[in-house]
Amino acid sequence: MTSRYFLGLLGHPLGHSYSPLIHHTLLELTGLKGEYKLFDYTLKQLEEGAIASMLMSGVHGFNVTIPYKVLLHEKLPALTPAAKRVGAVNTVFRVDVDQEISLIGHNTDSTGFYKSLATPTQEKLAGGHALVLGGGGAARAVLAAMIFEGKTPAHRITLVMRSPEKAEALKVAFSEWVQETNAFTTLDVISTEALDAKRLALVDVLVNCTPVGMHPDTNATPLSLRQMEALNPQAHVVDLIYNPAETLLMTLARTHGCPIVQNGLGMLIHQAIDAFSTWTKLPAQDGWYEAVAARLQNKFNT
Ligand code: NAP
Repeated sequence: MTSRYFLGLLGHPLGHSYSPLIHHTLLELTGLKGEYKLFDYTLKQLEEGAIASMLMSGVHGFNVTIPYKVLLHEKLPALTPAAKRVGAVNTVFRVDVDQEISLIGHNTDSTGFYKSLATPTQEKLAGGHALVLGGGGAARAVLAAMIFEGKTPAHRITLVMRSPEKAEALKVAFSEWVQETNAFTTLDVISTEALDAKRLALVDVLVNCTPVGMHPDTNATPLSLRQMEALNPQAHVVDLIYNPAETLLMTLARTHGCPIVQNGLGMLIHQAIDAFSTWTKLPAQDGWYEAVAARLQNKFNT
């Protein structure tokens, strides 16, 4: 058993991050000793061996954020299947064998996203039609979750991108996932302009994976009012944004009568809990999520 955990977040620039609060809460809840630091390193510092210095000082594992998620995916010699699928690393853990240290790149965004969904949303997704807005790193994790998490994959996924030609690598990865799981899932990648009322009326679950509507641009929405009026009113809506807690897209969805509307706070917490479990080998316990959510809520209210 590790006597003291040395954890942290690697990125640059690391402005405000909720990760220290989340992980210090988890350390407190589990009674484990340790600390979670911010490793704000430039690319030059990384090239000059910043990660080796982190290891020398005893780091057990760390999260990775902008702009290094893809870089570490390319550079780390070992990746978990989840990191390979998502094409990005958000969690790194170390394995020490015979005085040799190996660093393994992992990704907890897919599981974090799926666990954050309300149970009726997971059920609606199974065999349903998902509409995913945006085609970056978060969208890829969401798509992988729709195939690999849960008992039944989504039946149809429409991915809306302002530049659909950027989706070639994603399409290749997607067809491999479908083969691997024998899923009967089709993926359509379309432009924002091609998203018509007929398609919107068939959507079961809508997920916003673009930053549109994020603080400070809170008056922006990835779907127009007209498009939202064409959305199936029974659709469940998930916005991965958590700042603000209520985006304009979420307000439009509620006004439209959508029965379940949620933000990205749940994903943020679940991906962190999964990272913590990866480092400490402790499975998530009842009450962890609620305790972290309460701490973050206090933060949002102050
Ligand atoms: P990303 O890799 O930069 O991808 C963003 C995607 O959104 C790209 O496809 C981009 O298109 C598109 N986009 C950006 N601005 C747009 C606009 N004005 N109109 C239409 N499309 C636009 O970012 P990401 O890592 O996927 O993150 C996306 C969002 O998810 C962010 O808001 C992030 O905070 C959130 N997120 C939340 C969690 C969580 O735990 N809740 C986790 C990860 C991400 P182009 O490629 O054409 O620029």
